[in-house]
Amino acid sequence: MIKILLVEDNEADARLTKDMLAEQRDRFDVVHVDHLSEALRRLRREPFHLVLLDLSLSDSHGLDTLRQVQAKSPSLPILVLSGLNDEGIALQAVQNGAQDYLVKGQANGDLLARAIRYAVERKRAEERLIYLAQYDHLTGVANRTLLRDRLLLALARSKRKDQTVGLMFLDLDRFKAINDTLGHDIGDQLLKAVAERLKSCVRQMDTVARMGGDEFGILLEAIPSERGLTTLAQRILDTIAQPFVLEGHQVFATVSIGITVYPTDDEDSNNLLKHADTAMYRAKQHGGNTYQFFTPEMQAAVRERLAMEQALRKGLAKKEFVLHYQPFFDLATRTVTGIEAIVRWLSPAAGLTMPAHFIPIAEETGLIIPLGAWVLRSACAQAKKWQEAGFPSLRIAVNISDRQFRQRNIASSLSQILHDTGLDPHSLELEFPESVFMLNTDAAITTLKELKKLGVRLSIDDFGVGFSSLSHLKQFPLDTLKIDQSFVRDIPSDPDAAAFVAAIIAMARSLKLTVIGEGVETNAQAAFLAEKGCHVIQGYLCSEPVPPEDLPRLLREAGDSTRRNGT
Ligand code: C2E
Ligand code: MG
Ligand code: MG
Repeated sequence: MIKILLVEDNEADARLTKDMLAEQRDRFDVVHVDHLSEALRRLRREPFHLVLLDLSLSDSHGLDTLRQVQAKSPSLPILVLSGLNDEGIALQAVQNGAQDYLVKGQANGDLLARAIRYAVERKRAEERLIYLAQYDHLTGVANRTLLRDRLLLALARSKRKDQTVGLMFLDLDRFKAINDTLGHDIGDQLLKAVAERLKSCVRQMDTVARMGGDEFGILLEAIPSERGLTTLAQRILDTIAQPFVLEGHQVFATVSIGITVYPTDDEDSNNLLKHADTAMYRAKQHGGNTYQFFTPEMQAAVRERLAMEQALRKGLAKKEFVLHYQPFFDLATRTVTGIEAIVRWLSPAAGLTMPAHFIPIAEETGLIIPLGAWVLRSACAQAKKWQEAGFPSLRIAVNISDRQFRQRNIASSLSQILHDTGLDPHSLELEFPESVFMLNTDAAITTLKELKKLGVRLSIDDFGVGFSSLSHLKQFPLDTLKIDQSFVRDIPSDPDAAAFVAAIIAMARSLKLTVIGEGVETNAQAAFLAEKGCHVIQGYLCSEPVPPEDLPRLLREAGDSTRRNGT
């Protein structure tokens, strides 16, 4: 049964229309009214499937009639009935959102019934398109576009009413790892479940949106106080931290939340969106599973970061980077067993910059890829030169960041570099941060095996700062383990550090790994390490990283093991 509201003030036309519909196979239930005011009253009272609308009525004319019906029932299909002379208006009505029109007197029952079915279908398709344009396909919550629209509306309303609006950005922590290890299906299900939980945390009137990927936004209008936002943020953290059960897997997720407040932080919607993002980013930097309110200082930090990024790009183009080299020293043989290449940035503007200040930004921006490639090539070329200049068995270690490691073609580009520079792969060791071994184990093993096949040695740098256990490391083809300097700093006096370091050395040796103590500054530290079985050290006690021109002298003075016999 299709329920139709017929709005027609000509009694004869109305009768004709009703008769035509009565003869049809489709069953139509027609309610006839002859004034717009009456039509609007009926629309408020009961649901209809379609309006058959004559535009010129005694109490309304033309497109205005259409607009009033649309305003009352925005999702109701409208089929305009036009007189022979006002087809022009009828066409305009279609351009303004009516689904179709029919010229009275030209229609018969079949035509009318078909036009009705078509109008209903067409409206449905239109609504679907609007839905698709405004809602997230996967989770069914609003999308970025709709959130932006609602934010604009909320700001306009709140300006008038002097109300506060809150905007939150949420990003799942380590979502990529979940996706990579459990698969995209479970990743998708997690996103859906997160959207549901977010909805359960907020009021009906608030908008939860998926901004894309694993990022969500929440718009909170008319909030009583900023303290309410703190409570809500905490509730969201608690809710998301409850384990999800997806296809029999128990999945743990956490989010990072950035919060910004209108009008405190800004009055402009675009700026507020940026601020929420900035604050979310800061929450991430604090390790995730936390929330941060936007502050102006964050913006300054963002600007600084941007400036640094631009400077880095320029520095790369102008080749402002240099490598310094820090030896590894064998306590038992009192010789240098190798050197580590460590990058520095030498710019006319800022002088010498240490990697701690630019490597993290290079990683985030992807600039580490060209920078890292340059480091690897230069280090290999330099090592080859020294080998030919009297230190034939010199070994060189090069730091490889997480992002570089994840590059698809790392093995083939390394192979190219070895080929170009002529360096024997056995003289090269790659140092990886612990993070490389913590996520996505299978992919990491595959890549490490590819590298291993080239003949290079593999090392885990700064061991102990992450959370990987030695038994976990067993599955990787590693050669060397470097104990992070934060532990070395506290030995031998701090009993926890001493116990930890002793345990690492014992286990690493049982795995047949070479152990290197990093950041050794005192004889007491060196003695402790040696006593526990770690004979290779690196640190200011032996040498700081030095510029290349100082290295040959250092190698000679340290009585290195890399020298050609007789020199
Ligand atoms: P790392 O690979 O663990 O390098 C050792 C860091 O400890 C260096 O700092 C070095 O100067 C410092 N160090 C060495 N001995 C001592 C000591 O006795 N006491 C103290 N307090 N510090 C010591 P630097 O040059 O600031 O490098 C920091 C980190 O930056 C490196 O840590 C490495 O992770 C990263 N890095 C450096 N060069 C590169 C590179 O070419 N590529 C990549 N991806 N990362 C790099
Ligand atoms: Mg290193
Ligand atoms: Mg290190």
